[in-house]
Amino acid sequence: MSTQNPVFIPGPTNIPEELRRAMDYPSIDHRSAAFHAMLLPALAGVRRVLRTTAGEAVIFPASGTGAWEAAVTNTLSPGDRVLAARHGMFSQRWIELCRRHGLDVEVIEADWGLPAPADRFAAALSADAGHAIRAVLVTHNETATGVRSDVAAIRRALDETGHPALLFVDGVSSIASMDFRMDEWGVDVAITGSQKGFMLATGLAICGVSPKAVAAMEKARCPRAFFDLRDMMRANATGGFPYTPPVNLIHALTRSVALLEAEGLDNVFARHRRIAQGVRAAVQAWGLALCARAPGSESDTVSAILTPPGFDATRIVTHAAARYGVAFGVGLGQVAGKVFRIGHLGSMTDVMALAGIAAAEMVMADLGLPVTPGSGVAAAQAHYRATAAAAPAPAP
Ligand SMILES: *Cc1c(COP(=O)(O)O)cnc(C)c1O
Repeated sequence: MSTQNPVFIPGPTNIPEELRRAMDYPSIDHRSAAFHAMLLPALAGVRRVLRTTAGEAVIFPASGTGAWEAAVTNTLSPGDRVLAARHGMFSQRWIELCRRHGLDVEVIEADWGLPAPADRFAAALSADAGHAIRAVLVTHNETATGVRSDVAAIRRALDETGHPALLFVDGVSSIASMDFRMDEWGVDVAITGSQKGFMLATGLAICGVSPKAVAAMEKARCPRAFFDLRDMMRANATGGFPYTPPVNLIHALTRSVALLEAEGLDNVFARHRRIAQGVRAAVQAWGLALCARAPGSESDTVSAILTPPGFDATRIVTHAAARYGVAFGVGLGQVAGKVFRIGHLGSMTDVMALAGIAAAEMVMADLGLPVTPGSGVAAAQAHYRATAAAAPAPAP
């Protein structure tokens, strides 16, 4: 594996030089005013990225999985019912985590390749006249399949049935890369991690917490200690932390938000869409198909690409690493061996994406797949050339 090549995995993502430097930070006393002055702007920045003014931002030293755990343990009690769709490895893992905490998960089995079905959420919610469902879980961007779900439609399903359940959204591979609106969508806990759209090293579980979720904290009986939001929010109120904080990452988080805001969040989303469209044009030129089957639900941060039946897609990832020092993502769970993934989120430009597309072509040609080298590159080039004038400036 080369550290000169960009990575094309959907997290951890490429780290801009400026953020690598920002993570290189000396030890400071985290009980000092200097730390308070670092934490509060970082939290304020996260709130802006989440597009929440009503909610609080909270950071735990963990990966995104820790934020899943924080969301459910702080708001629910063992035996509580939650409603979730299983349509990829990440939604599946969140369901498993809920079950380990003794929650009663009502699972909507959906196709791996389709979004979370808002109509079936609506049906389940309206069938729940007694309001036994306490929370609805949505994986905004299924990183395993490259499928984006419509969070606003699931919000509507809650509103139209007058259902009071909390709405938790895993935005780990969408927040800071794809349009996300915590307040407008009525999201009660929004979840992400530092190593995806924020372009940092792994180590921060980042949550947005609505007033309704905060209100649910006192009644919640799931055991929690390290991830106790009450301790965290009490300490944060005066700029402190309940234990030793990851100072270097929090320092760099403010720089990350500054980079995103210098580009403009809407421009960041537009850049991801344009890059993804180029990748999708390449996939089409290769004669291959995306795992994402519903038009309009294709992810702008990761493309999961189906390989021909009988071919083990994992070989693409292994060969790319061994021969060219390039990282692509393997298929996970039900689609293991059936797809390989090109991650195109975070610090990514059209020119970087072209390198990834070209590398994928070399690999597929080496492995005897009927892909003409240059075909995907040409298709992506055509898209990038046609849209370059209108494109916003890339991230500095
Ligand atoms: C990366 C990711 C996670 C969390 O993974 P961690 O490895 O714990 O950071 C969760 N959900 C989705 C959709 C992801 O892409």
